[in-house]
Amino acid sequence: MQTRSSRLVGLDQSPIRTMTRLCHEHGGINLGQGLCQMPTPPQVLAAACRAIEADYNAYSYPEGLTELRSLIAGKLRASNGIEADPVTQITVTAGTAAAFAATIHGLLDPGDGILLFEPYYGYHLAAAKVAGLQPEFLGLTAPDFVLDEEALRAAITPKTRAVVVCTPGNPSGRMLRRSELEALDRVAAEFDLLVITDEIYEEIRYDGREHISPATVGELGKRTVTLMGLSKTFAITGWRLGYAVAPAELSSAITLVHDLFYICAPTPLQHGVVAGFQLPASFFIEQREQYTARRAVLCDALDRVGLPAIRPEGAYYVLADVSRLGQSSSLAAAVELLERTGVASVPGSAFYQGSEGDQLVRLCFALPMDSIEEAAQRLGRL
Ligand code: GLN
Repeated sequence: MQTRSSRLVGLDQSPIRTMTRLCHEHGGINLGQGLCQMPTPPQVLAAACRAIEADYNAYSYPEGLTELRSLIAGKLRASNGIEADPVTQITVTAGTAAAFAATIHGLLDPGDGILLFEPYYGYHLAAAKVAGLQPEFLGLTAPDFVLDEEALRAAITPKTRAVVVCTPGNPSGRMLRRSELEALDRVAAEFDLLVITDEIYEEIRYDGREHISPATVGELGKRTVTLMGLSKTFAITGWRLGYAVAPAELSSAITLVHDLFYICAPTPLQHGVVAGFQLPASFFIEQREQYTARRAVLCDALDRVGLPAIRPEGAYYVLADVSRLGQSSSLAAAVELLERTGVASVPGSAFYQGSEGDQLVRLCFALPMDSIEEAAQRLGRL
């Protein structure tokens, strides 16, 4: 009997997960997986607990609680400049991963080309393969990761039907500029592409940088599925909550597949984040300050020990150059780093097809400050 579908050939568990297990075995500090060990707002915790106790424990609509979708529509208008009808254009999902899965299964066909910018988030690639899509790649060069219009145009093949945009980027931390998104608008229109964005890190950004939602640029809104997440925003990665926003004619397919795959996002937890959407703006400002301080401590430590950091513009990861360790692969470098310092990271090869990631590791700084300081000190053992 065949023990795996043919779509799984060559697929294995992500190094993001294997490094977590290895870290636990070493009793290390886990700067690998983006667990997000930041404080969850107490209002969100209390609202979820109240919902469980009040027995809001049954399924919600597949597209999510009506009240939550209204709040999301208000937030999209105020923070992102996106106008979306909460009834026909928003699906609350079981995490952004579910939003991505519902989108690619709902809107694309097996064999369709899907273009990813490299370095990519490995789960986008793996999920695309499981959906039977044909992944295609456009490399963005470190340390600037600039999207060039001609390079983008040249990367489109006769098969390409969709392009995935992750801004702020995981793992690069790059935030796409308006001019780059205008180029995307032109190329997407020329080739009639679906644009799928992953904006889960939208609230986490540095140096006063503004997040631009691709759907607000030019005519992109007509062809864009905007994916957002609440995991990072409210530090609830284990709750599995996100949402997809799209023109109504695309959104109905996303809601349908979300229902068929997941039934709905966890109901009492949706009640919890209703409270999150009512938090004052100061919550996000303080959260950004916390991340800014952690970014400084970790990046400075990496620079000091000769593992130069590519300082991110957004999100909570830093790519570090580990050439100094003299290893031939990023996995070997990540293992050496863990063995010598007790600090776990993710090998750069998790985010690249070719060799560009071989001298990089990704470190996450969404941890309590004392853990980041401890990690910074341990890196000194190098
Ligand atoms: N998005 C997070 C990361 O990049 C978590 C992924 C995961 O847990 N598998 O680390």
